[in-house]
Amino acid sequence: MATFLSAGDTAVAPAAFHIMMKPRGAICNLDCKYCYFLAKEMMYPGSRFRMADELLEEYTKQYIEAQRVPEVTFAWQGGEPTLMGLDFFKRAVALQQRYRKPGMRVHNAFQTNGVLLDDEWCRFFRAHDFLIGLSIDGPQRLHDYYRVDKGGKPTHHKVMHALALLKKHGVEFNILTTVHAGNADHPLEVYRFLRDEAGARFLQFIPIVERDNETGYQEGEKVTDRSLTAEQYGEFLCAIFDEWVRRDVGRVFVQIFDVALAAWSGNRPGLCVFEETCGNALAMEHNGDLFSCDHFVEPSYRLGNIQEIPLVEMVGSAFQRKFGQDKRDTLPRYCWECEVRFVCNGGCPKDRILVTPDGEPGLNYLCAGFKRFFTHIDRPMRLMAAELAARRAPANVMRILATEEAARQRLFATAQRNDPCPCGSGRKFKQCHGRNRAGTAADGAVGLSGEIAGARAHQQQREGRP
Ligand code: SF4
Ligand code: SF4
Repeated sequence: MATFLSAGDTAVAPAAFHIMMKPRGAICNLDCKYCYFLAKEMMYPGSRFRMADELLEEYTKQYIEAQRVPEVTFAWQGGEPTLMGLDFFKRAVALQQRYRKPGMRVHNAFQTNGVLLDDEWCRFFRAHDFLIGLSIDGPQRLHDYYRVDKGGKPTHHKVMHALALLKKHGVEFNILTTVHAGNADHPLEVYRFLRDEAGARFLQFIPIVERDNETGYQEGEKVTDRSLTAEQYGEFLCAIFDEWVRRDVGRVFVQIFDVALAAWSGNRPGLCVFEETCGNALAMEHNGDLFSCDHFVEPSYRLGNIQEIPLVEMVGSAFQRKFGQDKRDTLPRYCWECEVRFVCNGGCPKDRILVTPDGEPGLNYLCAGFKRFFTHIDRPMRLMAAELAARRAPANVMRILATEEAARQRLFATAQRNDPCPCGSGRKFKQCHGRNRAGTAADGAVGLSGEIAGARAHQQQREGRP
C-alpha cells in the first residue's frame, strides 16, 4: 500500500495524540450487521491478523516517547481484542512499565463485545486498572436486532454475563450503545435498561451511519437501511435527555450531554466529532500500518508503517494535519451560520454526505438531528452552565426544573377561561389548554385535563421553553 508521506514532509506532531490499536485487525467472533470494521479484513489478504511481539514493543516505545504530556492512554479495539489472548496484554502492560517515562501515568482502555470475558480476564483488568468499554445496544430484543454471532445467533445473554463479571471484580466500565434502525425508536427503553438493569453510570450513544457500497470505505452518498435517520437520532437524544435532566444528573453520565455542557460552559467539546478540527485520534492496524482515523482505515488514508517511518513523523505529517484541519476548512457556510455550530462544528467528516439547502456539499447526514437536539437542550444547558460558573453542582438543574414545573402546574390549575393561556400561546385559556376542561361554568373549578396539561408541559419542556 502506498503512503502519502514524502521525504520533505515536515513533522510537527501535537503534544498529545491518541491511537486506537487493533492488534487482531478486523477479526471478530461476532458478526454485528452494522459493523464498519469487518470489511477491513479484505485490505490484508493472507494475513494472520496478529500483532507480533516485536511490533508491540516498538509501538509501545514510540507511542510513549511521542507524548509530550505526563499521561498516555493505550486504547485497544478491533475487531475483538480479546481474541489476542490474555498473555498478549500481560506483555503489553509489562512493556508499558518498561518504557514509561518517570512520573508518567499510563492508562489502558479496552473495547470489547464481552463474549470471551471470564474471571481471569476481569482479575487482570482490575489489577491493571483497565477501563472497559462494553457494547450493549439495549434490552435483549433491541440488542439482538443486529448484534449476532457468526451463526446469526443472539448474544445479549453473553454480554450480560460479561457485565456481571466486570461488576463482580470491580472493573471500571462504560457502555457503548450504537443507535440504529432497530433501536432508535425506543430511547427510553434503551436508557432505562442501561441505567436500571445494567446498572451503567457512563454511557455513549453512537449513531450508525453506514455507507452502502461494496468497499466498506467512506465513499458514495447512500446509507444502508440499518442506519438511523437524522430525525430519529435527534428524537432519541431528546427523549433520553428529558428523563436524564429531571432525575439523573450527577449520577448517570452520557457522553454527548457532557460534551454539550462543556461547550455551553465555554470550553472545548472534548470529543473529536464535535471539535472544530480533528486529526489527533488515529488508528493502527495489526501490522503497524497507521491511518488517519479509525473511520478511515482505507488505502487513501494510510500514513505509513511504524516499522518504516517514525510514529511521530506520521502523526505530525502535513497530510495528517490537513486531514484534521479540513474538518473546519471544508465546513459549509450553512454550518458557519448555524446557531448551534459552537457545539456541533458540523459533526464527523465521515458523515458529511449531504448538500446544504443552498447547494454546497459537505453537510452532515445527521444535521437535522444535531439541530433538533442541541436546540432542545439550550435552556437546561444554560442553567447547568450557570451553576457550574457559580461553583455549584450542575445537578441543581433538577431542582430548578421541578420548581418551575410545579409553578406551571399551579398556573394551569387556577387559570380562568378568559385568562391568557399559561402556555404562552397568546390565546385565551378556553381556546387553548382550557378547551377540554370538563364543565365550562365554573372557572378554575375543574382542573385542566391532566393528560393534556402533561402532554403540553412535556412538549414545552421538549422545546426548552419555561
Ligand atoms: S474523522 Fe470523525 S471520528 Fe475521525 S477523528 Fe475526525 S471527527 Fe473524529
Ligand atoms: S446542526 Fe447542522 S448546520 Fe448546524 S453545525 Fe451541525 S451540521 Fe452544521
